[in-house]
Amino acid sequence: MITTKRVLIVASIAFMAVMLYQWGHLDGREGKSSGLIGELIAAESPPKVSPVKTRARDFYAPNSEDLRPDEMRLIACGTGMPTARPKQAASCWLLELGNGDKFIFDVGTGSAERIAAMQIPYNYLDKVFLSHLHTDHFGDLDALFVGGALAGRQKPLRVWGPKGDTPERGTKYALDHLFKALTWDIAGRAGITDPRGYQPFEVTEFDYKGVNKIIYQENGVTIRSIPAIHSLDGPVSFIVEWNGLKFVFGGDTYPNKWYAKYAKDADLAIHECFVAVPDLITKFKFTPQGALAVGTQIHTAPEAFGKMMSLVKPRMAVAYHFFKDFDTTGPINDRIRTTYDGPLSLAEDYMVWNITKDDIRVRMAIYDEDVWPPPATEKPQLPDPSLRIPYSKFIVGGKSDMKDVIQPTYDEINKKYGLSEKQD
Ligand SMILES: [Zn+2]
Ligand SMILES: [Zn+2]
Repeated sequence: MITTKRVLIVASIAFMAVMLYQWGHLDGREGKSSGLIGELIAAESPPKVSPVKTRARDFYAPNSEDLRPDEMRLIACGTGMPTARPKQAASCWLLELGNGDKFIFDVGTGSAERIAAMQIPYNYLDKVFLSHLHTDHFGDLDALFVGGALAGRQKPLRVWGPKGDTPERGTKYALDHLFKALTWDIAGRAGITDPRGYQPFEVTEFDYKGVNKIIYQENGVTIRSIPAIHSLDGPVSFIVEWNGLKFVFGGDTYPNKWYAKYAKDADLAIHECFVAVPDLITKFKFTPQGALAVGTQIHTAPEAFGKMMSLVKPRMAVAYHFFKDFDTTGPINDRIRTTYDGPLSLAEDYMVWNITKDDIRVRMAIYDEDVWPPPATEKPQLPDPSLRIPYSKFIVGGKSDMKDVIQPTYDEINKKYGLSEKQD
């Protein structure tokens, strides 16, 4: 490889030298080749760079750019696997539209903190679409639900997801039970916080066998679902159309005919692309049999991802669902390139795509690790203290005497905000 590169470089230098020599001759400047090189360099004099002015950025900083009315912005808030790791959360995609709408596609394990890093007021993050019910695709729904309500989502969280082949394997069943699992959490907040965000999930279930059927249509945005082939009956992929742009989010699947047909000519098409089988064996410690089954039959192998994208021909293909490291990225890319030579993003967390009819710009987001909640978009509703569930006499009887050291804080806040709050 290096030898080939060197040969190419040497050949290029020789070619340029010959060209310059000939150019000089044709130009009637025999013997002045060095002068010509000097002129070429002078023509490319460095641009003026101010020592005190800002320059154009090549990264995306949340809460620093307007979204144009005709523009889509997509942010990868999770691109990894069911096994959690600091570098990659599991599947989560935040789609922002120039009309103000925002959609979350999957909310896999670890993704809630990536969503938070985007500094978007939680009232705008009230629509979640689930491709299927593996935890790497909805494992952080509880964090988004409770954390979002606490930080300014003053409305129920709406969730769209597929019915199962039985009611117990459907999205409604899963979310009704997730809400029940949060009984203690929510009960403890009654009478203390704005209650509106803690209402039960508003679930819209749809038939996973629906082929390109509309499951959402509001405000100029149409979302359709197509079936996927993965693990059990039930998984789906989503197709979003808005303002002449088409965005496809593929959930986990063996490559399927519905995606090939209905994702065609998308502006941006996401499709899973699993860890290559040799790496599943050596790095993920799968058995060879397990690696073949999971890496090629339950999921989409890189070569199959490439073949699918050669059929779909999107303006930008996006591969995810692999651990993206220095030693896995090359093999994945090489395998995809055996079957696909079009535009490609190998996704990682915090990758950002700005999509318009004329351009697709791909950057990384730079985020603040110390992020605090963004502002609420509406006034908070004061809770009704009578709804508080009291401690038992036994528990309240265990309180240490701290009233004297806490009272100055009450005095300070009461004075500053004109209140007359008292300690319990
Ligand atoms: Zn899955
Ligand atoms: Zn998955």
